[in-house]
Formats: sequence, structure tokens, C-alpha cells
Amino acid sequence: MAKFIEIEAKSILQKQKYRDGWFWNRYNLNPYRGCQFACNYCDAITEKYLVHRDYKDFSRIIYVKNNAPKVLEKEVKKLRPDVVAMSGVTDPYQPAEKKYELTRKILEILAKHGFPVHIGTKSDLVLRDTDLLQEIAEKTWCTVSLTIVTFNQELLPHLEPFASSPERRLESIKKLNEAGIQAGVDFTPIVPYLLDSSDNIEEVIKRASEHAKYILIGAAMTLRSNQRTRFIELLNKNFPELVEKYENLYGEQESPPQAYIARLNKCAFEFCKKCGIKNYIPPPTFERPLKENFEVANLLLLIAFFKEFNSANPYSAWAYHKASQNIENLTDSIREIYEKGELIKIQGVGTSIVKIIEDYLTNGSSERLDKEMNAW
Ligand code: SF4
Repeated sequence: MAKFIEIEAKSILQKQKYRDGWFWNRYNLNPYRGCQFACNYCDAITEKYLVHRDYKDFSRIIYVKNNAPKVLEKEVKKLRPDVVAMSGVTDPYQPAEKKYELTRKILEILAKHGFPVHIGTKSDLVLRDTDLLQEIAEKTWCTVSLTIVTFNQELLPHLEPFASSPERRLESIKKLNEAGIQAGVDFTPIVPYLLDSSDNIEEVIKRASEHAKYILIGAAMTLRSNQRTRFIELLNKNFPELVEKYENLYGEQESPPQAYIARLNKCAFEFCKKCGIKNYIPPPTFERPLKENFEVANLLLLIAFFKEFNSANPYSAWAYHKASQNIENLTDSIREIYEKGELIKIQGVGTSIVKIIEDYLTNGSSERLDKEMNAW
């Protein structure tokens, strides 16, 4: 039984330096700290994110930001609406939400002020808020990703002991899509040696594709600080035969080697293709000034997403992230800049990115994106 500690937050919306190319968010919002789902692979217990003194308390002590709606109401009035991700380091629909309803109150405010939303969860409690998510989807943009990493009943108690069953998550995806809310699967992480068989990858993708609009693939399970300690404990206790394999795969590194990640990405990509399902979330579309600049910026981010996916290197496309951000920050129309022949003057935009922008502004599509999307 978790202990709840009510706290007062000074601020609630955290702005990211760069837009995220997976979930398209510019803001993160965590109404709770700590998570009752206690997934054994969770990376939110690394020192980087942790507010608890002992990482073992992450699922035993839940900090509840009671004043979050009040603080948010003040913050949103000063900001231009943009995508808010709930939540980066906790699940917004963990059991605490049944009691406190902070996520619901926050969604009411975001809906009222026209903020688009991405929700990431492992709980079918998200269906409780279908009315609000529908309202946000109609007004701006709303996407819900439910994590599903396996349907294997023997492994789930070791990996995700307290989350809703994957069948219920799949049912939630179906219902959300039927309600007009874009919903898909976040297949993250693909846990080495437990979930990385082609049978498991195929099963998740095949079953998910019956109801989901997209499947995101996360083959790069990290093992950092507390996360590593906890996961190796799990292996020692329940899968001792895998300990040496993990040592060989990770060594001192936080992620598996790129060749391993690329192999899984390729395998997952081929199943996605076979099942006719996207392996990315399409960029958000919502009304905002200089909309074409936003489209071009998002096109570059999507190309970066695929370059990183194909190379299995999360830093292989930073030039695209930077150019995307600079284009989003422009105060002049990108089309006018293009017509004056001055795209090259935009900071971070080199000749190859100029060509991509010209192609898009002329044809409304991108050959480069098509190439990266189908690289395998
Ligand atoms: S649901 Fe997410 S935040 Fe919660 S324990 Fe699992 S991985 Fe961590």
C-alpha cells in the first residue's frame, strides 16, 4: 500500500529546449512524483529524475502535487498553446489518480485553454476522461499512447506487476480510437533476452495493429544507476541465467550496442510494414500563427526521428533538431524567405536541409522523408 504525501508545487509546466520528435511535446507535466505501477525496467528511478531519498520508495511514496491545477491555470494564461506530455516520469493514471483526480482537473484546464496533449499510460483508467480527451482532440490535437511490451502472462508479473493487463490496454486503444481520439501503442522497452524474440515482437505488433493507429518501437532499454541495480536484482532472483548475457551486452554502457538496437528496429519495422501500421506518431496539426513554418519544422523532426531509428543512434540527427527549432522560432514566413532565396541564411540550415525545405514548399511532400521512412 503506497503512502501519499501532498505537496505544493511552485511550477507545473516544464518547457523542453527542443520539441520531442516521438510525442511532439514542448512541455512536460507530472502531477505526481513516484509511480505505483513499479515496473522493474522503469528508468524514472535513475538519479537524473528521482526526488525520493531511496529509489526503493519510488513506488511506495507518491508525492501528490495538490495545487497543480491552480498553478497550471496561472501558467497557461501566459503561454502560447503547445503540446503538453503527461507524464514523463510517472503514470498520470496510476491508482492515486482515482483518489486525487489531478490528471482530470489538469485536462479540464488544458482543454479550456486550447492546449494539445499527448498522454502516455499503462492504465485503462484513461477511459474515464474520454469526454475531455475528445474535447481536446476536436479543438486542437490529442494522442494517447498505451505501453504494451508483451502479452506473455509469465513475464508480466516480473516486468509490470501492477499495471492494467495488456488486453485491457488494447481495449482502451480501441475505445479511444472509436471515440475519435488518436491512440496507439508504445512498445517500449523491448527488454533484452526476455522480450526481444521475433515471436514477441510479431505478436505485439500484430495484435496492436488490429486497433492502434501507430506503434512506437523502443529497442534501446537503458540500464542506468538505480535502474541498473534494480534490474540486475530482478535478474539475479528470477533469471540468473541472463546475468552474464546482460554483462556481455551492456558492459559498462547505459544502452545496448547500436548493432543490437538496429537489428531489433529493423525486425519491428518489417512487422509494422507487414501489418500496415505506422511506426511513428504523425506530427500534430493545430491552428497557430505561421502554420507552414510549423509544418516544415515538424517535417525535419520526423526525418530526424527516422534517421535515428535507422542508425540506432539517438544523436545522429542533431542538426535536424536544431534547424527545426530555429525554423519554429522564426517570426517571418518560411515561404517568403524561400521566395527571396534566403533559406540558407536561417541558422543551422545547410544546403541539404535547404533542398528538403524547397521540395516540401514546392510539392507539398518530401522525397527525403519517404526515403528515410523506407530505408529498410
Ligand atoms: S508506469 Fe512508467 S513511470 Fe510508472 S513505474 Fe512503470 S515505467 Fe515507471
